Amino acid sequence: CGITGYIGYREAYPIIINGLKRLEYRGYDSAGVMLFDGEQINLSKTKGKVSSLEEKVALEISEKGFIGVGHTRWATHGIPNDVNSHPHTSQSGNLVIVHNGIIENYDTIKQELISRGYQFHSDTDTEVLINLIEEIKTTEGVKLGKAVQIALNQVIGAYAIAVFDKSKPDEIVVAKLGSPIAIGVGKDFQEFFIASDASPFIEYTKNAIYLEDEEMAIIKKGREVRVRKIKGDAVIDVNIQQLKMNLEQ
Ligand code: GLU
Repeated sequence: CGITGYIGYREAYPIIINGLKRLEYRGYDSAGVMLFDGEQINLSKTKGKVSSLEEKVALEISEKGFIGVGHTRWATHGIPNDVNSHPHTSQSGNLVIVHNGIIENYDTIKQELISRGYQFHSDTDTEVLINLIEEIKTTEGVKLGKAVQIALNQVIGAYAIAVFDKSKPDEIVVAKLGSPIAIGVGKDFQEFFIASDASPFIEYTKNAIYLEDEEMAIIKKGREVRVRKIKGDAVIDVNIQQLKMNLEQ
């Protein structure tokens, strides 16, 4: 299973799809991609290989956009099929998530969300998490990063996630506990790459941040990457000069 993502000034799709191919060695049963073209979210996903996803994308969505995320799934909750494949969207359609790992207490949260009027389309634990984030964001009136942080403090399990909010299209929020996440940092923060390991972005940047367990990052195009602890309020200062990676070695 694997995650890729891009936010910057290049076409995101080739970076995301080629990245997924480099992560194929990790094993998977389904694949999917979300691209934001500046106006709308375009989503395509399928059971099967990344090559099948490419065929489906060519038929059903625009490949345009400078922001996107990709996913290869190793099913844990819900059989491998198109609907259970990632990315998953929230009820409003504005929030998008890709997730590797398991949310163990998903059923309790799902019942609570159903009682608040949420409907679910897949059998995944992941769709529960993105709706929990949406519920927190709306009821508490907090920003995306804060909503993700509050949600992750309510879940039990393991995850690498990347979350996108259509209403904040120059931002992606990522978090890690158990499964890996690397962030490639482009010159002057003009672009960022997200992946399960550095192989999808190694030819674009030598600067990378590997999140530790229980860390999350709020990535803002052209501005900054803010790494913080999921528990508590600690912000971990990331000095880009210190990021010169060991990729060269
Ligand atoms: N638990 C999630 C699912 O079954 C993610 C699986 C994965 O790690 O790819 O959809």
